Amino acid sequence: MRLIFLGPPGAGKGTQAMGQAQAHGLLYVATGDELRKAIAAGTPLGQEAKAYTETGRLVPDGVIIALVKELLAQAEGAKGVVFDGFPRTEPQAVALDEVLSESAARIDAVLYFDATPEAVIERLSGRRVCRECGATFHVAHNPSKRHPQCDRCGGELYQRGDDLPETVKNRLRVYAEQTASLLDYYRSRGLLVRVDADRSISEVRTAVEAAIANAAKAVGKGQKPS
Ligand code: AMP
Repeated sequence: MRLIFLGPPGAGKGTQAMGQAQAHGLLYVATGDELRKAIAAGTPLGQEAKAYTETGRLVPDGVIIALVKELLAQAEGAKGVVFDGFPRTEPQAVALDEVLSESAARIDAVLYFDATPEAVIERLSGRRVCRECGATFHVAHNPSKRHPQCDRCGGELYQRGDDLPETVKNRLRVYAEQTASLLDYYRSRGLLVRVDADRSISEVRTAVEAAIANAAKAVGKGQKPS
């Protein structure tokens, strides 16, 4: 299975994508996580990406596409891939189709996490992230039992600089201007499945699992997901 989790920042894509990757043995490809690791390590990629991520702008397509190619090269052995936060522009979507077609593969389903701006802002303002493993929590809806440490690995939890209100506004504007058009790109290919992401984590998980099961059935029959 090759899945894309698409939607505005704060819609809950990461929480669900990580869970599904673990449950199904899928490679989890989150470009935002990789950029944060590179920035923390001070690599050339991190130095290039820093100014963009800090202000909520998109990192140039060429940089992101090269990063994803590198990550996909590690996909051997995985039963598939779940993309979180990628693609974010049409050139990235086209590049992904090209890369997959080189190994006669393609995207099986695109889950669109449809969340209201109010829900997204509330989630981002309470989000905390583990510095070590990237797991995400919410101070009210999904707190770490070991707060201010991570439940999963004991790492330190922190609030992302780009989750502060001014940058959040910019990220939502960037999503509307540069990423939302991907909904049409994938809808026209018969791949888009809408998930109502305004609900609780467990309700959204149930909907995500149903969408994945449906897509898996369609793949088995050589059809598009409905
Ligand atoms: P995220 O963790 O997905 O919210 O990403 C955090 C930041 O990383 C974004 O605001 C962008 O600056 C950058 N970023 C992550 N993924 C991409 C992408 N696919 N294309 C361009 N920039 C990205």
